Amino acid sequence: MAASGVTEDEYVLIGRDLVKEFAGRSGLFSRRGSHVRAVDGVTLGLKKGRTLGLVGESGSGKSTVGRLLLRLLDSTDGEILLHGEEITKDRHGDLRRARREMQMVFQDPYSSLNPTMRVGELVGEPIAYHRKLRGQALDDEVARILVAVGLSGEHARRFPDELSGGQRQRVAIARALGPSPDVLVCDEAVSALDISIQSQILNLLLRLQEELGLTILFVSHDLSVVRHVSHDIAVMYLGQIVEQGPAERVVDEPAHPYTAALLSAVPEAKPADQRSREKILLRGDPPSPSEPPQGCPFASRCPVAFEPCDKIRPEHTAVEGGGTVACHLQTAGPVLAGRPVPIELLSRAHK
Ligand code: SF4
Repeated sequence: MAASGVTEDEYVLIGRDLVKEFAGRSGLFSRRGSHVRAVDGVTLGLKKGRTLGLVGESGSGKSTVGRLLLRLLDSTDGEILLHGEEITKDRHGDLRRARREMQMVFQDPYSSLNPTMRVGELVGEPIAYHRKLRGQALDDEVARILVAVGLSGEHARRFPDELSGGQRQRVAIARALGPSPDVLVCDEAVSALDISIQSQILNLLLRLQEELGLTILFVSHDLSVVRHVSHDIAVMYLGQIVEQGPAERVVDEPAHPYTAALLSAVPEAKPADQRSREKILLRGDPPSPSEPPQGCPFASRCPVAFEPCDKIRPEHTAVEGGGTVACHLQTAGPVLAGRPVPIELLSRAHK
């Protein structure tokens, strides 16, 4: 998938050259009328029945991308295509039809579920709205979906505060499944849960994907989780995608220094593997999105930044094994030409 060459046939949902700017806060030290560019020219596509993991640090813009794709936020620029039809400017009935096909599971099941509604009402509400089911047909459908997410019809009578965190997230997933969507956006959907519950919810998502053919965008800061559930991975930094491709290639042979640094911090199951791996600690914080750098967004923290990096923004180039990367190392300096970035190069420069 070239950065700007996503073709319509392969993908259920496409975001092309997406930009989102928010008005900056005006105050004593900030300029009046300044803008924060949270998403800066993002192009990505969700393939039918597959999971795209969108990973990056807090503030990288990944959650904003999820909301733009679902039209929960209006983009400043760019276009969104659902099943090949542009929905970027859809309003009213058209937007409601598009939203039926795309649902979201939020991070925090404590705040995303209305505490005054019973589970049956919470799950039934979007079914009644989008599919117009009523009475016994609605009750039957609610019970069916509760069972599909590992709960029972008995849970329909309970309130959210009578459920555990894992059960609440199952209710949130049931609520998202109610309209029979093609696309599910899971925004940090397991981040608030205990590790043991996390794996249950991840397994549930994998099973539902297999049974229903769901297309999933899995947004998370946690690469160790993303790599277990994703077919493809896109890595975001400061509002831009810096690398994307098949999950196995991105994890085993990262081509961008930022991806390599993120991976070096992921805990390994076997302690011996952990000891043998060099850890790249990134220094400093990302620059402010209200004053984005002119060149590579990662230049101020990259251990191997060189002459063109802080002046010229790198273009995406193809990577051996699939996907693309935006880094000058691929075309200048050591000229990696699509090969993975050597971890020794990073750790040497880091010392
Ligand atoms: Fe580092 Fe330069 Fe590559 Fe950016 S373009 S990641 S600064 S080497």
